[in-house]
Order: sequence, then structure tokens, then C-alpha cells
Amino acid sequence: MIMKALIKEFEHILGKNNVFQDETDRATYSYDAAVLDSALPSLVLRPTSSETLGRVVGLCNEQALPLTVRGAGTNLSGGTIPQAGGVVVLTNALNRIIEINEEDLYAVVEPGVVTASFAAAVEARGLFYPPDPGSQAVSTLGGNVAENAGGLRGLRYGVTRDYVLGFQFFDVNGELVKTGARTVKCVTGYNLGGLLVGSEGTLGIFDQITLKLIPMPPARKALMAIFNDINKASETVAAIIAHRIVPVTLEFMDNFTIRAVEDFSRAGLPVDAAALLLIEVDGHPHQVEEEAAKVEALCRQMGARHIRVAKDAAERDKVWEARRAALSALSRIKPTTVLEDATVPRSKIPAMIRSIEEIAKEFNVTIGTFGHAGDGNLHPTILTDRRNQEEWERVEKAIDAIFDRALALGGTLSGEHGIGLAKSRFLEKETNRATILYSRRIKAALDPKNILNPGKIIGD
Ligand SMILES: Cc1cc2nc3c(=O)[nH]c(=O)nc-3n(C[C@H](O)[C@H](O)[C@H](O)COP(=O)(O)OP(=O)(O)OC[C@H]3O[C@@H](n4cnc5c(N)ncnc54)[C@H](O)[C@@H]3O)c2cc1C
Repeated sequence: MIMKALIKEFEHILGKNNVFQDETDRATYSYDAAVLDSALPSLVLRPTSSETLGRVVGLCNEQALPLTVRGAGTNLSGGTIPQAGGVVVLTNALNRIIEINEEDLYAVVEPGVVTASFAAAVEARGLFYPPDPGSQAVSTLGGNVAENAGGLRGLRYGVTRDYVLGFQFFDVNGELVKTGARTVKCVTGYNLGGLLVGSEGTLGIFDQITLKLIPMPPARKALMAIFNDINKASETVAAIIAHRIVPVTLEFMDNFTIRAVEDFSRAGLPVDAAALLLIEVDGHPHQVEEEAAKVEALCRQMGARHIRVAKDAAERDKVWEARRAALSALSRIKPTTVLEDATVPRSKIPAMIRSIEEIAKEFNVTIGTFGHAGDGNLHPTILTDRRNQEEWERVEKAIDAIFDRALALGGTLSGEHGIGLAKSRFLEKETNRATILYSRRIKAALDPKNILNPGKIIGD
């Protein structure tokens, strides 16, 4: 338990209102969106300025107090489950958009800014911030950078990393370190961004972040390709890529997910379809028409039974909202929802989808599959009840089998959700012992007392 004198010191830095000791408050921050055991922190702290964030980090280090920083807690890998007895540091009061620069196309933000609010503020100036994780209505930019989050537009526009021009962060001593710039190009110093983006709060705490903006494309068009055969849908994904067409978005949903989503959102999805592809193209109006026609022709050629083109923005947005609700819709069905993130080279999408179906049968578990198929990134979502020990053992075996299959197909354990606690034991399968030891040496050099989000990614 944390000493009274130390609590007083945190209260002195942050004000009493921003230091939470009640068990209810602590329990609120003891878990996140991953299916893992919770752990109760001793204290929850809410800095309201950059300066106090740095002082909190420095004090935690001085006291060897494990520190887990938390944005919205929507990560799916246990990245914000604190060390029992440690502290949770919230970023929700660090939520200012400091600058949107229309001349040089960048913005400077605090880490607790909500992703969708930022995207809307930028859009109001005719600019575009493409990374759009399904959780964007609540996720924070700090959390996005720490997870290197992807989203529905990753196929054409890339992931969060591609929009980080620079940032300042607190090292474990609470010293402010700076990397990158407000310029398009910058090779000053080590590429600390390469190390810190995706580091899940284990190497430093993001303070201000400078993000690249791009012009808003003038036209968009969304299509829904409806298939009676799941294999034909997955083969169409591979065919679109092989034909050098790069839509903004190329999402996949199997029948189980379509039915769950339709039940939840009433967006008019065809519940009898074996699978759907949700596709969007953007750019100049002429180019959009041309690309949409190419995509439509290819989908028909590959066996789509019908193509629906969204007739206006409202219809388009309704379908995208429904897609973003896929996880929420599936998670209503059973008490426990395990969403996986296996990712394969795009040409292997048909093989991966077939494998997921086989794994569901082999282990007799319910799996709904959807995801960013154009990125090779699928979310097989297992619906279960963790209290049922016998079923849970089968679920764990199915998860192992999904990872093994993704790796055998030349893929990766995580396309976007990070490793956190949930997948750290699988890391060696994809890399090797030397990689883990090398990473641990970096961690030990930068955080000798191992207080920054201990146990995540590389274990202890
Ligand atoms: C319904 C749903 C849909 C989702 N869809 C997507 C998707 O499409 N694509 C995708 O990539 N992910 C998706 N996710 C996962 C998740 O939303 C992302 O990982 C997101 O980036 C997490 O943001 P957050 O603010 O919730 O971060 P948190 O969950 O609070 O934190 C995530 C990690 O970042 C660290 N962190 C947070 N702030 C800082 C900081 N200031 N400095 C250093 N480290 C920090 C934390 O310690 C933790 O390790 C989804 C999750 C849900 C629940």
C-alpha cells in the first residue's frame, strides 16, 4: 500500500480532486477491453497539465512505483491493466488540440484528445486525419500512438505511425525528450519515433504529439458486394489487390457477423449473405467513378450476387457505423468476447478465412469473423463464457491454432491491437529468444527499475 506521505505529495502536485484512492475508483481502472484478470492499482492519478504529468512520472520512478498510463482503456491486449499495487495515470484531462496548422498541414495535440473529435475538428477546416480505429468515438490519440493503431482506411492511407511527425515524451525520470519536427522531413537524431510508436507505455509517456494532416479528398463512393459463397468473397479481396486497385477501405464480414450487426444496428444488411465486402474509394470525382466501376466489375466477375452502391452520404455513413459496431454487436451474444487480430499477407486471406472456419469446427467454438481484409488483418471473434472451464480450454486451443496458422501463412500475431499482456507469451513464436532479450536490454537501459507499464509486450 502506498504511504500516506507519498499520497500527500501526489495531492500537492495534482490537487486532491485528481488523486483517487476509493476502491470503486481503483476498480474502474483495474481492467480494460482484453479478456484477462483485472489487477487493482493503489492509486489513480489525473494530471491536468504537461508539467504535472512529468512530475508524476518522475516521482513514481523515484519511489519505484509501477505506472500504467491510460487513455480510454479500449485496447484489446491488456495494455492498461496495471501492476497490482501500482498507479494508473489518466490522460483524459490532457485533451487540448493545441494547434491545427492549415498552411503546413500539421496539428499539435495533447495525448488525451479523443480520435474522432480530432478528426472532426480537422475536417471542419477541410483537412483530413485518416487513421480511424473502430473505437475512434472514445479512443485517444495518445493510446493510438502507443498502440500504432490502424483503422478502416489503413489500406490506402496507412496507420497511425504514418501520421506522426514528431512528439515530446517524458522519460522514466520525468525529463521531457523531443523527437521529430513540424516539417515533412526530419532526420535529426535517432529515430526515437520508430522505437516509441507502438511501445504501449513501456518506454516513455507521450506528452504533445505532432500529427500530419492531408487535404480532404473531394469525392468518396461506398459499395457493398454481397456474396453467397464465403470463399468467393475472400478470393475477391485477393483479386482486388492483385489487380493493383487500392481502395481506401476493404472490409470483410462473415454471415454470423452480418446477422449480429444487423440485429444490433438495423442498417439493412442482407442477413442471408454468406459474406459481405464493404468497399470505399475516394479521390477526384472522375477517378472515384473509374475506380468504383473497376471494383464493381471485378466483384461481379468474382461471383458477387449483387452490388449495392450507397446512394448518398447518409446511407454510406449508416453502413460504416454498422461496421464499426461489429464488436459491440457480437459481444451481446455471449458473456465473454475474445477478439483476435491475426494478420496475413493479402494473398493468403482466402486460406486464413478457410482455416478459421476449420478451427471453429475442430474446437467446437463459435467464431464470427470480420475485419480489415484489404490489409490482411482479420478479427476472428470467439464468443464464449469464460466461467465454463471446459469450453474456455477449447477457446484457448483455438486461439493458439489461429496464431499458428497466421504465422504459417507468413503473417503476424497482431496487425494493430498490440501485444500487451494478452499475447506476450506468443511473441517468441513469431520472433526468437534473441529478439526478446534484445528488447529487454533496451527496456532495462531506459527504465532500469521497470516501472513503465511492467510486464507488457516482452514480459518481465
Ligand atoms: C470496439 C473497438 C474497436 C476497435 N477497433 C480498432 C481498430 O479498428 N484498429 C485498431 O488499431 N484498434 C482498434 N481497437 C483497439 C483500441 O481502440 C486501440 O488500440 C486504441 O489505440 C487504444 O486507444 P485508447 O485511448 O483506448 O488507449 P488505452 O487502451 O488507454 O491504452 C493503450 C496503450 O497505450 C498506452 N498509452 C496510452 N496513452 C499513452 C501515453 N500518453 N503515453 C504512453 N503510452 C500511452 C497504454 O499504457 C496502453 O499500453 C478497438 C477497440 C475496441 C474496443
